[in-house]
Amino acid sequence: MPGFELIGPEEQAEISEVFASGGILFRHGFDALRRGCYKVREFEAAFAEAMHVPHALAVTSGTAALRVALAALDLKPGDEVITQAFTFVATVEAIIEARAVPVCAEIDATLNMDPADLERRVTPRTRAVIAVHMLGTPSRLREIGEICKKRGLTLIEDSAWGCGGSLDGRPLGTWGRMGTYSFDFAKTMTTGEGGMIVFQNKADYEKAAAWHDHGHENNPKVPRWEDTRSGSGFNFRMMELQGAVGLAQLRKLPAIVEAQRANQTRLLAAIEGLPGIAFRESPLGSCGTADALVFFVRDNPTALSCRVALLRKGISTKILPEATTWHFAATWVHMPELVAAHGGALDTAFPASTSLLSRSVSLPVTVKMREGMPEEVRAALSEALRIS
Ligand SMILES: *Cc1c(COP(=O)(O)O)cnc(C)c1O
Repeated sequence: MPGFELIGPEEQAEISEVFASGGILFRHGFDALRRGCYKVREFEAAFAEAMHVPHALAVTSGTAALRVALAALDLKPGDEVITQAFTFVATVEAIIEARAVPVCAEIDATLNMDPADLERRVTPRTRAVIAVHMLGTPSRLREIGEICKKRGLTLIEDSAWGCGGSLDGRPLGTWGRMGTYSFDFAKTMTTGEGGMIVFQNKADYEKAAAWHDHGHENNPKVPRWEDTRSGSGFNFRMMELQGAVGLAQLRKLPAIVEAQRANQTRLLAAIEGLPGIAFRESPLGSCGTADALVFFVRDNPTALSCRVALLRKGISTKILPEATTWHFAATWVHMPELVAAHGGALDTAFPASTSLLSRSVSLPVTVKMREGMPEEVRAALSEALRIS
């Protein structure tokens, strides 16, 4: 889960520096007043370096990051963008906001996009694919990337949950043409609210940077009020206090991921061997962020009784099996564009995903997992699996 467990004096020191340098909270301009203090700019540069990419753009949220990334693609109404049925609503919302048609593919036992189902859903109108690394486990980027290449589609990674993870040693978010991250308060590193986009191409970066700032091209030859523009956009600018916190959190990211991976391993060691459970799969070469430990049980009643038994010991589950409403497309009847794209019936559109999710249990992993937690989890689950 969380950078929020580790918010402390380092973040505070970064913020104090902003106020000690004139208190300029806007990312642009006021050059004479800010004594060289540009936190958002510095955060972008540090993030790009950490991810080994040429360009990064900070924005106001992970949702904004998706919307701004799509703005770089010049989508036309009717163009289709495929993502996966198990994701946060934001991925589909961003596609709808970009005036494209949202299509969801089934997930497989990785609980991420099933490449075979992706391939079935590609049409002549498909322009882009958004692969999501749900709960920190890498999606099948090799296979998905191959399909995108073959069919001429743009790959974007929604790496909201993948920040700090990798596949084959390559950071999540940097496999696609663009990758997006969320720094909301429940994510691996946080700025309270915030997000980032990383780019492989300068042209995409420039288009996205202008669009996220009303079309401002940041032309160094003219003052901002005379700035050049080639199109309109919107405002998704990050502000200096978020940039300051982000710098401190980014320095903690490797330690956060390492601690979570160690704690996930402790949980796994405690419960593997329990009867009737099988763990979520991950692609070969995965180094996840270990946001959760997910396993499958026989059926939905068993999954629910696991949750009840855990709650009795004061341990919650994370999203599965209880909170698919915000994370599973089959329930999003409030999105007419999505309903229409799936023939008017969402509840029957994803049978494979429904089957997998209904019998999944997700244990949250934290940085500061308390001593004894793995044993408590094991005791609760032993009880639930026996009575069911
Ligand atoms: C959190 C999340 C988002 C949205 O990020 P916000 O910063 O909360 O707007 C998008 N996609 C996924 C998969 C997420 O988990």
